Amino acid sequence: MGDKIAIIVHGGAGAWNLASARLVTAITACREAAQAGQQLLMAGGSALDAVETAVRLLEACPVLDAGRGSYPNRNGDIEMDALIMDGRTLDSGAVAAVQRIRYPISLARRVMQETKHALLVGAGAEAFADQIGFPRCETADLLVPEMETSPSAGPYGDTVGAVALDATGNLAVATSTGGMRRKMPGRVGDSPLVGAGGYADNRTAAVSATGHGELLMKIVISKQVCDFVAAGLTAQAASETAIRLLAERTGGTGGLITVDRFGQVGIAFNTAAMPYAFSLGDGKIVDGR
Ligand code: ASP
Repeated sequence: MGDKIAIIVHGGAGAWNLASARLVTAITACREAAQAGQQLLMAGGSALDAVETAVRLLEACPVLDAGRGSYPNRNGDIEMDALIMDGRTLDSGAVAAVQRIRYPISLARRVMQETKHALLVGAGAEAFADQIGFPRCETADLLVPEMETSPSAGPYGDTVGAVALDATGNLAVATSTGGMRRKMPGRVGDSPLVGAGGYADNRTAAVSATGHGELLMKIVISKQVCDFVAAGLTAQAASETAIRLLAERTGGTGGLITVDRFGQVGIAFNTAAMPYAFSLGDGKIVDGR
């Protein structure tokens, strides 16, 4: 328990062009998402509600690879992955390779809360959405042509995520992505996988990852950060150490945001940039990239 609240969000670690208007838009979206989460936490809201609310705002942002703005796969379809996890119970919910969903993170939460399962994929996840009356959209509603053609976009690296600590000491994470640009149909990255794209445990920390999914999953990177926190590292040192491990063991690039059970945050990446924003308690929103 504690009176500290904290939230941190990211808009993906990748080959960002530091001079691009896209990066400015992404940072602004991160600020808005962090602020919405902070307001919710300050009003006594839960960490789960804060991360879901923040990620929905990022999914709506057209320059980020999640929800609207997701990269199409090789067939021109948009297949999205999302994960939410509750650090109090270790419950998680995820969807993978889902199509025609505006806010995949909210569908992931419904999987967590309304099924006995942790991960639903493809047609089955879409059938579940229809069964519970979850709003569907058209692929055209998600497609943002500039995302496909933008010279400043890399193959990956604009996935979104949020981690939060609420006033009752609960931690939560949410991560959402359209995955890699022009991926093979059916390809699923780290984002919806517990321990890889995110992890939250009230005993240690909540972590959201971004970057080259096939490599992030090799070291189960988000759980690795929690294990480093359990071993006594600060949120910042644990995040930096995990990114070093990623580079050393896999040659991979990516980024991490972390909040530990004391409300201390960590931010690390080894890519050109990773737009982020955070707030501690009722403090000002701090952004960076
Ligand atoms: N990690 C995501 C994936 O591999 C990509 C990203 O972070 O942008 O699907």
